[in-house]
Amino acid sequence: MSTDESTKTICPYCGVGCGISVRQGDEPGDVSFAPWGEAPVNEGRVCIKGGAATEVVDHEDRLTEPMIREDGDLRPASWDEALSRVVAEMEDIRDEHGPDGMGFYASSKTMNEENYLLQKLARRFGTNNVDNCTRMCHASTVYALRESLGAGAMTNSMADLRDEADVFWIQGANPGEQHPIANSQYFRQAVLDGATVIQVDPHANKTTESFEIEESDRHMHLQLEPGTDIPLLNAVLKTVLDNGWVDEEFVAERTEGIEDLRETLADFDKEAAAEECGVPLEDIERAAEAYATADNAAIFTGMGMSQHACGVDNVQNEINLALATGNLGRPGTGVNPLRGQNNVQGASDVGAMPNVLPGYQPVDDDEAREAVEDVWGFEIPSEPGLTNVEITHSVGDTVHGLYVMGENPVMSEPNADRVADLLDETEFVVVQDIFPTETVEYADVVLPATTWAERGGTVTNTDRRVQRMRGVEKVHEDTRHDLDILTEVGTRLFGEDAGFDFDGPEEVFEELREVCPIYHGMTYDALGEEGLHWPCYEPGDEGDQFLYADSFDTPSGRGQIEGVRHQPPRETPDDEYPLILTTARLEEHYNTGTMSRRSATLSRQHPENFVDVHPEDAERFGVADGDSVTLRSRRGEITLRANVTEAIKEGVVWTTPHFADASANVLTNDVLDERAKIPEYKAAAVDVTLA
Ligand code: SF4
Repeated sequence: MSTDESTKTICPYCGVGCGISVRQGDEPGDVSFAPWGEAPVNEGRVCIKGGAATEVVDHEDRLTEPMIREDGDLRPASWDEALSRVVAEMEDIRDEHGPDGMGFYASSKTMNEENYLLQKLARRFGTNNVDNCTRMCHASTVYALRESLGAGAMTNSMADLRDEADVFWIQGANPGEQHPIANSQYFRQAVLDGATVIQVDPHANKTTESFEIEESDRHMHLQLEPGTDIPLLNAVLKTVLDNGWVDEEFVAERTEGIEDLRETLADFDKEAAAEECGVPLEDIERAAEAYATADNAAIFTGMGMSQHACGVDNVQNEINLALATGNLGRPGTGVNPLRGQNNVQGASDVGAMPNVLPGYQPVDDDEAREAVEDVWGFEIPSEPGLTNVEITHSVGDTVHGLYVMGENPVMSEPNADRVADLLDETEFVVVQDIFPTETVEYADVVLPATTWAERGGTVTNTDRRVQRMRGVEKVHEDTRHDLDILTEVGTRLFGEDAGFDFDGPEEVFEELREVCPIYHGMTYDALGEEGLHWPCYEPGDEGDQFLYADSFDTPSGRGQIEGVRHQPPRETPDDEYPLILTTARLEEHYNTGTMSRRSATLSRQHPENFVDVHPEDAERFGVADGDSVTLRSRRGEITLRANVTEAIKEGVVWTTPHFADASANVLTNDVLDERAKIPEYKAAAVDVTLA
């Protein structure tokens, strides 16, 4: 059956949540992109990824039938045989090792309903070992925001920031590359209308270019050394304190902890900090004045802040700045994490995390847990489970089986060669995906899923807007929707009446609403085409564009200020590894490249990986532009092309995790932030030699 009309859905790539349409021709595989002119976030505009998104739906590499590993090789199997094997292996692992012998990887690329059902399945199995890739991107941000303000999400919305912010402080984020439509349609528009932007990043990038607006001096770029975000923000905070730019009324009425901050910074040496950061002190002071004296100033925070062993403290210092200057609780302000994947916010909201149930209700809170148990009808384990990197690192110890839905840990986790070795040792791995990812090479059973374009459900974008996705007809008959696979696995494992027998995503969403207070007021009808921002507690609520108008969602109702001190990266340069590697993504690719490397349009832009090297370092190491070079860290090595450029600071090299034959994650450090368990992707010591 073909449809003449296009189907309105949401772009499957970044967290901006742009609406697009999918048109399906006479054959199911004949799918193409069409603009959705009235889409609420983007009004029809898309970046190169959104425009190319339909290219992978009928790609020749699609997994089209279940597979089972036999004598070392994967062979085709029926759904019944594959699912029987999955259920038998999971039961064996539970019998032999207990329920914590399994680990479940949820997916920030799949929908709320699917993530909700996967985490429910893990908990019904008897474990809280379930996590999604927020652990790899913003777990530290979520931790700091929840502890100090109340909710692990953007405090404000893109629309109120565009309309009301006078200053944007963008630290460790690159929206020009990672969130192109938010950057062009919201943030750059605000700067064109008179706002100032302060960018804090070791790398000059597309965000830098986008704000180089003719005849405007309203753009400052503080190009700091990787891992010096705390001293830089402490220099800013010291400047704020010394100049009397604290909002005393706001601090007295709505915060706690300013004295701790004053004590921490009492003897702080700004000159020494500026030198450590590699940024002139006068630039830091000018930026501090612009932010602190603005009517409304907003902070954007990205993975340059979160992906550190001190990630929680990095973000806490941004919260300190916002609270001390009274820049929270009204439009045009706040601390705003830009989320990377189209549903990383939603996967977390619906409970695909080891420490919280849907709606961020702590799993060790008896009252909250019992309320969810009443709906689900079974007992939920009360101890928080393992995070996804901890699950991987526990293989062979406490973890013996992995259920991987739409994730690619062999490429996405740091110290990738170690991850591959661990997966090789795992007793049983099931992978549910659309393509033969690098992780499929370690799978015992492969379950072929449908793509984003072929199914319906909801996703939650970076500013807490829940939107509906709608699917066209299935392209391959023998693939199944993630939700249907989970429904059948749950029913086979636990029985017909165990709460897994759902008839489509709307039925799942109705149950999700019951156990997730921040989504309780939403229905598919109410979401319509505009979507709704959470929190949306009761039917009829319009949802909150910005948070904390009256009080913070902390036990005291006050925002928590807490002074933090510099902690250098766990690896710093030495004679053997004299350079610091930092990593980031390209506009044209997406995380481990599972989809974007299969798009002809995107691959044409960047067919291979490269490393940015400063000209002084290039001379020091005998490297010329375009040379093939080997980057080596304590964990492994990759060979790629050198791009000699002044966009990167001297002493720092920069590359990406997108390419399987030369992924940055072979080199990155798997040390974790103690509280949030996020890895330190953003700083590793390396050397560079000619290949
Ligand atoms: Fe898709 Fe993000 Fe581009 Fe929008 S900005 S089209 S959501 S990748």
